[in-house]
Amino acid sequence: MKYAIYCGSSAGSDPQFLQATQALAAEICQRKHSIVYGGASVGLMGAVADAVLTGGQRVTGVMPKALIDKELQHQGLSELHIVEDMQQRKAKMAELADAYIAMPGGVGTLEEIFEVWTAGQLGFHAKPCAFYNVDGYYDELIAFAQTMVKKQFMKGLYLDKLIVSDDPQTLLTQIAEYQAPASKWG
Ligand code: AMP
Repeated sequence: MKYAIYCGSSAGSDPQFLQATQALAAEICQRKHSIVYGGASVGLMGAVADAVLTGGQRVTGVMPKALIDKELQHQGLSELHIVEDMQQRKAKMAELADAYIAMPGGVGTLEEIFEVWTAGQLGFHAKPCAFYNVDGYYDELIAFAQTMVKKQFMKGLYLDKLIVSDDPQTLLTQIAEYQAPASKWG
């Protein structure tokens, strides 16, 4: 199993984000799984790559040319794809992964997980999408998604199928057991 990990190019306000990143990486390594991510050495992006590599598992990076300097390309990756732009990065990561995980992050992280979540809703793929909800970081986002369901802009099924957990073992087990819903347009 290869997970696409979307996460902050910053490390966040509290050391717990780093610790939680290492806990998820440890669970990935325990299962002998691998990751694909944005290829940077900064923030939680760098932290998850370091931790998975230290745990002896493969890390694939996908870095757009224009960001190599800004996000500081990680030098120790198992494999690195240099792509033209952000669109190609997202497409490559989506293609290489069997499942998608958003760890805490900023708008870049949200943009990436929302793209694969919506693609799943439309039936373009049948892969699980998950939020690693460290210290309730995504509680308000999930609450807003519940508002979308309540106001009938999203079917409850698509929220029910979203995997949300602050526990790495639960998160990866639910990913392993995932069954895709029918597509929005049947
Ligand atoms: P952030 O969560 O904002 O720290 O960003 C996390 C990652 O998302 C970084 O590698 C950003 O380069 C990337 N990112 C930001 N905006 C976009 C976008 N529009 N499309 C794809 N990736 C993005």
